[in-house]
Amino acid sequence: MHRQMKLLQDLQALDHYIDRLRRDVATLDDGEQLRASLERTRTRMEIIKRNYHELHAKATEQERRLKEFDEYLQRREAELYSGKITSARELQLMQVEIDEAKRSREEMDVEMLRVWERMETMKHDIDATERDLEKLERLYEAHMADYRQRRAALEAEIEFHLKERAELTAQIDPELLARYERLRDQLGGTAVAIVEQKACTVCYTLLTPYTLKRLETEDSLVACESCGRLLYDPMLATE
Ligand SMILES: [Zn+2]
Repeated sequence: MHRQMKLLQDLQALDHYIDRLRRDVATLDDGEQLRASLERTRTRMEIIKRNYHELHAKATEQERRLKEFDEYLQRREAELYSGKITSARELQLMQVEIDEAKRSREEMDVEMLRVWERMETMKHDIDATERDLEKLERLYEAHMADYRQRRAALEAEIEFHLKERAELTAQIDPELLARYERLRDQLGGTAVAIVEQKACTVCYTLLTPYTLKRLETEDSLVACESCGRLLYDPMLATE
């Protein structure tokens, strides 16, 4: 059974290595955080652009009203100086009305200026966000290319070692292999324990003389009395 145990020990070393490769695959950064950041920036961009367009529509409408207002003012002033209105009182009222309208016109101008300023600020924000987006997109693409490359390399390596594993398991007694797999499931991936200085190197229990004797002389499987793992003593594998 020593030869079989040697094969099992080799299998375990291989399995540990494959386990590690699988953990490496699992811990690769698949770009989730970058993707989320990109999504957030895209959403932000949409909101800023929507706000900008709303304000732009508002500004256009305001300009149209200003133009209308100017036309109205021109008409009223033309009437005022046309000489058609002769009543002094009527002329005075008209002058008051025109003066009031001019004051509102000035207020509208100030308001218009504010809108243009806000639009200017928003335009800067759009440009800055655009640059952020481009940068993030480049970063994300580079990251994903790297991720896919690393992942493919690890998967190819796993594939290679799985073939190696199949060749190895073909040489192991099926019952022993089944027991090994069961123990591996139950004991956190380690089914075989090497014996060193009369102790199990996994649970550190000192083995009894009886167990050591069995290991040396019997041609059967011997398990650690404490952790239940199959014991393998490299010193006894002398082929
Ligand atoms: Zn043990």
